[in-house]
Amino acid sequence: MKKNNWGHWADPPKAHAPEEFSEILETEVLVIGAGVSGMSCAYRAAQTGAKVTVMEKLGTYTARGFNIGVVNSSLLEKHGIRNDPDAFIREWIKRCGNRCDERLVRLFAYRGPEAMEWLLELVSRPEYNVRTAISGSRYMGETYREIYGAHLFLNGPSARQGRPTGVPEVLECMYQEMRKLDVRFLFNTPMEQLIRENGRVTGAAAVQADGTLIAVKASRGVVLATGGIGGNDEMCEDLSPLANRTSVKVSAPKGSDMGDGHRAALWVGASFEDTPFPTMIHPQLYFHCSYCFLFVKSDGRRFMNEDTYLQAKSLNIIQTGEKYVWSVFDSDWPEKIPATLPYGGGIFWGQENPLGMEQFSVEKEQAVIDRGLKSGSTVMADTPEELAEKMGVDRDGFTSTLARYNEMCRNGHDDDFGRRPELMIPIDRPPYIARKIGPALLAVVGGVTVDPDMRVLDENREPIPGLYAIGNVAGGRYGVDYPMILPGNSIGSGMTFGYLLGSALGRGG
Ligand SMILES: Cc1cc2nc3c(=O)[nH]c(=O)nc-3n(C[C@H](O)[C@H](O)[C@H](O)COP(=O)(O)OP(=O)(O)OC[C@H]3O[C@@H](n4cnc5c(N)ncnc54)[C@H](O)[C@@H]3O)c2cc1C
Repeated sequence: MKKNNWGHWADPPKAHAPEEFSEILETEVLVIGAGVSGMSCAYRAAQTGAKVTVMEKLGTYTARGFNIGVVNSSLLEKHGIRNDPDAFIREWIKRCGNRCDERLVRLFAYRGPEAMEWLLELVSRPEYNVRTAISGSRYMGETYREIYGAHLFLNGPSARQGRPTGVPEVLECMYQEMRKLDVRFLFNTPMEQLIRENGRVTGAAAVQADGTLIAVKASRGVVLATGGIGGNDEMCEDLSPLANRTSVKVSAPKGSDMGDGHRAALWVGASFEDTPFPTMIHPQLYFHCSYCFLFVKSDGRRFMNEDTYLQAKSLNIIQTGEKYVWSVFDSDWPEKIPATLPYGGGIFWGQENPLGMEQFSVEKEQAVIDRGLKSGSTVMADTPEELAEKMGVDRDGFTSTLARYNEMCRNGHDDDFGRRPELMIPIDRPPYIARKIGPALLAVVGGVTVDPDMRVLDENREPIPGLYAIGNVAGGRYGVDYPMILPGNSIGSGMTFGYLLGSALGRGG
């Protein structure tokens, strides 16, 4: 469905003739992309009996982040937490502007717990011995309430090999299991285009490290798990322009989210969900912690109600048109920050901690401030005037904003932006401190239209035989925005849909 105004990325390449391939490999299930959704699908399909090949453009699997969110699990239960899936679904739909596919959201809410049990069983095996916990960080305010459900995986085989902990622990366990199940991994092998024969997608063409072209043919199905389009500025401009307005793109590793799967699907007739695609944007340009006291931009003025969660803060900062803004607080932060946590909190409000651990540590927070002071992303001064100078913001604008802010705190009412009275905490104890916060793109989370069996749909909403999509290459989960109602829901849903599709393809497709 090439749209007239889209760039050259949408132009289909010439299909390859059979004699152009140096080799044709056969498999039952071909998974393209070894990120969290692809690895989950490949592992589950192999575990349930399929012959699986994983094709990955980079030198190893891709794993990042910490939080894997699902609505319920035995681990949550152990902490006495049981969420209501129907209430969760309703809230999700509301926050996604009614533009998400409710069937997918229901699948995630109701089948995510089963997928999580599968994961918990894997990582708890003695040879892996991954420590599991629930993240204690969630925003507590009513308007943007988040639920507990982000699972943490720590200090397992990845950490023991000197590599990052968190989500990589899960993928390392899957990888080791797949090696035992004879899954074929084709690393450094970028899929170039899909192969379609008599209407069915039967495989993919890829370029090997030595430049030769190979084909991998899959009898049961070809799964696109190629991640998002965030790293591709041209595609973002056409499909998700907001992604290009963030101050930085932190998608990692570089090159993993170039929209290859989106393009390949489009070229064989797939439809996209409505644009603009939703984005995951967090305040990660400098150091993450942002609190909720006073945000000012370069004219020294406030521009938002700071009492909200991280995605909303980031989106508001983008609206200012500035690369970053300043979060201003004072020397009483060791008492003032904890006082805000029962009302707000959540990821990057202050530091993060697993549930059951101390929710706030002065030492940890001090270390963050010290790092900022050293790098220049945090400044400190004895007077508001001096602080304005160090921030490089308009002096009169800032001093009058601070005076007005403190006055409103004393009156217990935010006349300008309506922040809750409980959070109207004055900033009046020098030295004053200010920290830069800026919006970073983590992922674009929109893509090809799929049905609840993860089958890729064409313009007539008919499945394209043989082709499936999961993770960020697939659309329908989010609609307009990344809903932080459950931290870690991107990886959680990618893992869930990978598990469900792997189960189906393992049984025969
Ligand atoms: C720094 C950071 C932290 C994050 N933390 C969290 C978190 O804690 N919780 C959370 O839920 N989300 C988090 N996210 C978002 C999350 O990582 C992604 O949304 C999620 O991993 C997407 O999974 P995926 O399987 O769709 O894609 P990916 O994990 O991006 O995997 C896609 C894979 O496909 C490969 N690929 C692409 N094109 C081709 C091709 N042509 N041929 C072969 N292979 C190809 C890529 O190299 C990559 O390995 C974070 C993102 C970032 C950047």
